[in-house]
Amino acid sequence: MTEHPYLVSPDRTLDLAGRDPRDRRLFAGGKREGRDQIRALNGRLETLQETLYAEGRHKILIVLQAMDTGGKDGTIRHVFEGTNPQGVKVASFKKPTPKELAHDYLWRVHRHTPGRGEITIFNRSHYEDVLVVRVHGLVSPEVWGKRYRHIVEFERLLAEEGTVILKFFLHISKEEQKERLQARLDTPHKQWKFSRGDLAERAHWDAYVEAYEVALSKTSKPWAPWYAIPADRKWYRNLVISRILVERLEALEMSYPDPEDLDGVVVD
Ligand code: ATP
Ligand code: MG
Repeated sequence: MTEHPYLVSPDRTLDLAGRDPRDRRLFAGGKREGRDQIRALNGRLETLQETLYAEGRHKILIVLQAMDTGGKDGTIRHVFEGTNPQGVKVASFKKPTPKELAHDYLWRVHRHTPGRGEITIFNRSHYEDVLVVRVHGLVSPEVWGKRYRHIVEFERLLAEEGTVILKFFLHISKEEQKERLQARLDTPHKQWKFSRGDLAERAHWDAYVEAYEVALSKTSKPWAPWYAIPADRKWYRNLVISRILVERLEALEMSYPDPEDLDGVVVD
């Protein structure tokens, strides 16, 4: 089988500079055709998610990570459009509270992992503990250095207990981030999204790139693969993620559970 072009290989260190955030090799058409395809994929995902819920066997965990303005929110909105909110949960991980900080960093994460029949999307995740934490030295290298191993083992535990894990890094360029931040400043209904903190983080762009390269390479495993998705074009990003998700769910070959014996049952 040929490897997916955006898969992060576990065998060599990811080089983000060598990956084009505007790449579009998986779709020959333009934006309009792309959007039509996404709509078709939304329909398939809706059915798959209903079957997943009805069958109540598999658990699906989707991890989204990106630089600020990378498009996590938009991805959630567009890829999951039409699915039933009863079966799809989003867990967003912000700066840890004092109570969360009093525990190990996986404590707050584990309780949000999906149960049977559920899809859970992590909007940021335990990866922050080797990204922002590493870039800002919030704990010593001694401490964060061990976390890659913990994360690999934690995800292996989830996978062995029946969780399908897919991880997406939304790869935008520094120029694209500039445009998106500027748009947030200039557009009244987007201003609420602007934070001065994003500018402070932008100054650490290179350190984040390095932290992402290391984290993704060390933790992309067959049971929990990372995909680095070209994300400067929003429609292409949504299309590629929808496809990977639909293909992975279709491979589960799920079916609706057998009904009870309905012979002779009448509704009067
Ligand atoms: P938006 O795209 O809407 O801005 P967001 O995910 O960036 O959404 P924010 O509230 O702006 O949400 O930012 C959350 C912040 O919390 C990020 O700066 C992130 O790095 C930080 N954070 C998340 N987890 C941790 C952690 N374990 N340790 C320290 N900081 C963390
Ligand atoms: Mg933010």
